[in-house]
Amino acid sequence: ERTSVLITGCSSGIGLALAAHLAADSGHRFKVYATMRDLAKSERLLERLGSCCPDTLEVLQLDVTDPHSLAAAAQRVQGQQLDVLVCNAGVGLMGPLETCSDLAMKTLFDVNFFGAVRTIQAFLPAMKRRRAGRIIISSSIGGLQGLPFNAVYCASKFAVEGLCESLAIVLRPFNIHVTLVECGPVHTSFLANLQCPDPEGSELQGLDAETRGLYRRYLQHCQSLFRDAAQEVEEVLPVFLEAIVSLCPPLRCASTQLLAPLWRLRLGSPDGSAYVRAMHDFVFCGSEVGGDQP
Ligand code: NAD
Repeated sequence: ERTSVLITGCSSGIGLALAAHLAADSGHRFKVYATMRDLAKSERLLERLGSCCPDTLEVLQLDVTDPHSLAAAAQRVQGQQLDVLVCNAGVGLMGPLETCSDLAMKTLFDVNFFGAVRTIQAFLPAMKRRRAGRIIISSSIGGLQGLPFNAVYCASKFAVEGLCESLAIVLRPFNIHVTLVECGPVHTSFLANLQCPDPEGSELQGLDAETRGLYRRYLQHCQSLFRDAAQEVEEVLPVFLEAIVSLCPPLRCASTQLLAPLWRLRLGSPDGSAYVRAMHDFVFCGSEVGGDQP
């Protein structure tokens, strides 16, 4: 009996790579429902798998912000039993908070938070009836700790973390495992796709010079972090695979130890001030990650 897996956001990045990897499994252990907002973008996934579409893969339209498309996808899959749901669709938003428009913030939450909620709601009742299932979420390091100039993105991923931790408690007796995968920087189209004002552009004209300077420094930091420390998609796949096949997957698993010292510092100092100082010094003063604590 194959393990059925539905993944959102499969037109690029982690979703595409995970769908291709599972569909190409040499033991044919998985039936993959690779879903994406725009089916015209399915070519890259199909190319990855070679010219013929194997019977381990079905590509479905699914926009996580559209309840109708979710209902249609759920109906298509519900006949088969869904073993694993991977809520992966997500978008970014970067910049000084003063410049984030209402629309941009709402759109981001509609995908990252409400999109995950709706997707889970669509598949949860059937999993509960079967008393089996797994829900895996593409969270982020930014779901565990605040990151400068990513306030709204982090807020959406913190929200997802709270959602899933709360849900996991209730789902325990139903034998449904919830796992949050916290990725650090990964080479995908995420950075290119995210909205991010140019520090020299007109969008930031009304902003104070000091914040503009910090934002400029942050963008340089972000660039070098992605250049020196970002993972390839293939490096994060084992974490998702482990969450799919492990007998007892954890609630959280990180794909990188990059910011682990800062995370430990944050946990070990609950009033938060040591973390704020260390993160500030790491990003804006070039200090070691989590080093140099009082
Ligand atoms: P990506 O931009 O390549 O993939 C995101 C996918 O989500 C895209 O295919 C996009 O089309 C899809 N998507 C956006 N809105 C959608 C909607 N309304 N309905 C359905 N799909 C939609 O980037 P990625 O890095 O592969 O991102 C996957 C997940 O990983 C995201 O949730 C992201 O927040 C998370 N993540 C990424 C990084 C990183 O550095 N790349 C780091 C931490 C967490």
